[in-house]
Amino acid sequence: MGAAETGLIDRLLQLPTLQAGGWLLLCAALFSALQMLTPHDRDQPLVRKDAWLDAFYWLIGPAVYAGISTTIVIAGFWLIFGGDVEAIRHYAVNGADWAADVPLWLQVILVLVISDLYMYWCHRMFHGRTLWRFHAVHHSAENMDWLHAVRFHPVNYIPHAMLSSALILWMGFAPAALMVLVPFNYLYSSMVHANLNWTFGPLRYVFASPVFHRWHHTGPDEGGSSNFAPTFPVLDLMFGTFHMPQDQKPGKTGLVEQDMPATLSGHLLYPFRKRLPGGSVAAVEQS
Ligand SMILES: [Zn+2]
Ligand SMILES: [Zn+2]
Repeated sequence: MGAAETGLIDRLLQLPTLQAGGWLLLCAALFSALQMLTPHDRDQPLVRKDAWLDAFYWLIGPAVYAGISTTIVIAGFWLIFGGDVEAIRHYAVNGADWAADVPLWLQVILVLVISDLYMYWCHRMFHGRTLWRFHAVHHSAENMDWLHAVRFHPVNYIPHAMLSSALILWMGFAPAALMVLVPFNYLYSSMVHANLNWTFGPLRYVFASPVFHRWHHTGPDEGGSSNFAPTFPVLDLMFGTFHMPQDQKPGKTGLVEQDMPATLSGHLLYPFRKRLPGGSVAAVEQS
């Protein structure tokens, strides 16, 4: 194979959609098998009716968001360095000078903890009255499974995930510390949404489990206004929102509102539509 062909293949492999497609196949094989072995709800179908919608989010999201993410990060660098292109380039590749003295494994742990703290509060904000209808899209699947992890309205996803990564880069962490976490993010967010009966036993307070996050996706009269942390439930313990009763199983997931459409355009337009009687905000935090 010639250099031109090799270069083309390399470039194709860099495409966000193709990379996301690889993760989609891997997660489909892994979590479908696990959901058959240890399901939370045995009656839940392995492939739900609206799975195509989430597969679309999964594949198209990375391509759409890649440009937005780069713009946010560069705009921040531009402000930090007052337009010094050389300084921006150096920072974007290596991180801040302090990052050279901190081992990568330690940076990865710090990135995880800082991101989780940021996402905890961002997630709580989206459960407030003003932003709930954007976040309601994520809560809309009645038969929650691993593929549901990617269902986010862009107005929710951009501050939740992209601003979090931008914040880490603006702080000067080595970009490699974020890259190392890409596989972890795919696998962990799919795992907590999967139809699995895992609680992690005594480690339930340390790491978010599928049951921990399933409680979050139940109605507000169950655990819907609790368990906001993506990875570390200790944040919910600290801020008084931990909910994981050991003698109960989480019930039905989904929305109290009955007016969520089952199409992509319907999801995107939902927060801007006039609220129907009985379709008002219901699953918001009671604060
Ligand atoms: Zn939520
Ligand atoms: Zn979720």
